[in-house]
Amino acid sequence: MLRRGHDYYEYGHILSIKLIDENEWVAEVEGAEIYNTYVAIREGGVHHHCDCPYDWGGVCKHVVAVLLDIRANQEQFTISEEGKILKSKIQELSETDLRQFVFEFAKRNPDFRNAFLEEFEDNS
Ligand SMILES: [Zn+2]
Repeated sequence: MLRRGHDYYEYGHILSIKLIDENEWVAEVEGAEIYNTYVAIREGGVHHHCDCPYDWGGVCKHVVAVLLDIRANQEQFTISEEGKILKSKIQELSETDLRQFVFEFAKRNPDFRNAFLEEFEDNS
């Protein structure tokens, strides 16, 4: 049997992994530093993101470590408390509160700001 985190040491040590939503995982993976990794398994394939500096195309080893962990422990995952709270908060907040939060957060956080502007870029 594969043991969580241990056998994948060459890829990075998984400090935490949770199902944040259906078929979407977030993990902290220890390599040279601690990286935040996101993996979504959808019908069209695997979507992934990692905040490590790896920039050679394809998949970094932290994402590989997370994928191996998901495969080995697939049946054990249930949607995390954090994921449930996140989803229900977003659903129950008013549009005004959400808009205000997004604007304030985007001003302070360049990664989020860029992702937001890219997602909703005006193509007209
Ligand atoms: Zn990475």
